[in-house]
Amino acid sequence: MTPPRRVAAPKPSAMAPAPRPARSARRRRPDPNAVARRWATQLEKKRPGLIPFVLDRLAEGAGRPVWQRRLDPTSELVLTILSQNSADTNAEAAFASLTAAYPSAPASQGASAGPRPFAGWGGRGLPEVPPPDWAAVEAAPIPELTDVIRPGGLANQKAPRIQAALRALLAHGGGYSLEFLATMPPLEARDWLAAIPGIGKKTASVVLLFSFGTPLMPVDRHVHRVSQRIGLIPPKADADTAHDYYLALLRPEQMYEAHVSLISHGRRTCHARNPDCERCPIAPRCRYFDPHAE
Ligand code: SF4
Repeated sequence: MTPPRRVAAPKPSAMAPAPRPARSARRRRPDPNAVARRWATQLEKKRPGLIPFVLDRLAEGAGRPVWQRRLDPTSELVLTILSQNSADTNAEAAFASLTAAYPSAPASQGASAGPRPFAGWGGRGLPEVPPPDWAAVEAAPIPELTDVIRPGGLANQKAPRIQAALRALLAHGGGYSLEFLATMPPLEARDWLAAIPGIGKKTASVVLLFSFGTPLMPVDRHVHRVSQRIGLIPPKADADTAHDYYLALLRPEQMYEAHVSLISHGRRTCHARNPDCERCPIAPRCRYFDPHAE
């Protein structure tokens, strides 16, 4: 009997190409909030109680920070712009220069005895004087405003940013006040601010958290570094994405405490170059100190 002839399988090149996924499916990115929620769930499962452990240990050494408004929201916004990529002491010097160059009231009115240091802030604090005359700041010629804020650094970038922010406030219709943000849902308020050129999630979150106690977690370089080392956020999460992770990791009432405590810890102990792990109260559960820490 003649054996049945074997039919050779077609070469891959001869086969019909696999259908390509629809364009929208190919481009679809995972929802960052869903990713953050999954991370928070996994972290609690694998390393239970890590967030309260960190907050409690830091509070034992430095006390538990309590929210208190430090400036009016417009001054907070301008001071935060001045502090972008600059030391806080330089931002304070630039803000003081702004107040002196564009005073909104005679210097004798509202002057206080001395500067007020801010929780978690790396500067010396600002004297309690009235905020600058914002209309004069907005109308100032750019070269003049740049000279005034030069002590803060990067003045060429920051002068137009400050004026763009003041124009956005004016266009909203409430003068130069930002108080209307207090009534908006947190993420809507953050998006409103972040739509202004030169203002990102961090600056917007700082303004809202410190002005109104809005439950948002600003992630600056200190918070980002400390968070990655402990393992609170994924090792490759950048600072911008870390804002989303923290919204899933923290309860609203923990945001202010977490921001101030982590930033202070980054400044005092968990330095960028030589973290002082031997004296760190978090070391037993820090993945930088012990890669197997739970
Ligand atoms: S153990 Fe070291 S690396 Fe970890 S948080 Fe403390 S100082 Fe930073």
